[in-house]
Amino acid sequence: MKYLGIDLGGINVAAAVVEEDGTILGRGRVATPRSGAEAVAAAMSEAVRQAVENTGCTMADIASVGIGAPGVIDPREGVVEYWSNLDFHHVPLVSMLEQRLGKSVCIENDANAAALGEYAAGAGKGSTSMIAITLGTGVGGGAVLDGKLYTGFNYAGLEVGHFVVEYNGRLCTCGRRGCFETYASATALIKRTKELMLINRESLIWQVVDGEIDRVEGRTPFEAAARGDLLAKELVEEYQSYLACGITSLINIFQPEVFCVGGGVAGAGETLLGPVRAIVDREDYARDSARRTILTLAQLGNDAGIIGAALLPLFR
Ligand SMILES: [Zn+2]
Repeated sequence: MKYLGIDLGGINVAAAVVEEDGTILGRGRVATPRSGAEAVAAAMSEAVRQAVENTGCTMADIASVGIGAPGVIDPREGVVEYWSNLDFHHVPLVSMLEQRLGKSVCIENDANAAALGEYAAGAGKGSTSMIAITLGTGVGGGAVLDGKLYTGFNYAGLEVGHFVVEYNGRLCTCGRRGCFETYASATALIKRTKELMLINRESLIWQVVDGEIDRVEGRTPFEAAARGDLLAKELVEEYQSYLACGITSLINIFQPEVFCVGGGVAGAGETLLGPVRAIVDREDYARDSARRTILTLAQLGNDAGIIGAALLPLFR
């Protein structure tokens, strides 16, 4: 049997036909309409039609359809409770799509879908448990424990960006202070880099961005550090120490078999992760155990979400 995954984003609706092992067989893509929920459901079924056609199969070959969606999702009711980007309030996306496609449809938060994709077909493949985090605008993530996606009783669990790593620290968008994502997101790294650039005019970081501070990206301090800039090295080390602090706490609580790190900043690869792993190795409560969590990079990039959405029914 084949499974269909849909990745609903603010810019595009992507669909893919996926094998049980996570192999993508064919894809479809439609721009996300901004004219209401019915238009979005129509765009989703068009992306599905394209993916099925590009795979060279028919809807009869598709076992089920899974949606990974942003915002606040109620998977049990099949509803997008709230999504600010398209002003969605209590949209029953699952039933709308079931009517259009004549298939069983399920839905999950996009961060959870991406974690599931990495578990099923990427960094966590073959493991019993995995935590995945994504370092982007914020810090998102998800957990698969004993082979099942863990979401909390109300589906709001595993908000890994919002546990505190610095009591009374930086103000977070959630209203608390010192949340992990205010130190470990790409946004946080960019903001901190700009702050320190303004009081260090001679730093090489200025050369990396041709003197334009607005061109600072998550990778900028890594590039300047590679050229030997001391300020950039300090920035990268500070970032890595907060990242390691949060990762170690999550490992101490869950002791997952695999912990994987993805998102834009993870593009720095082992340059980012090597020093983080050294701190985690030192501080992990289970450091003397023969069996240790494997800390590694995510493997599937942007495909994690669509693969996880497709395979949702297999991990419930
Ligand atoms: Zn927060």
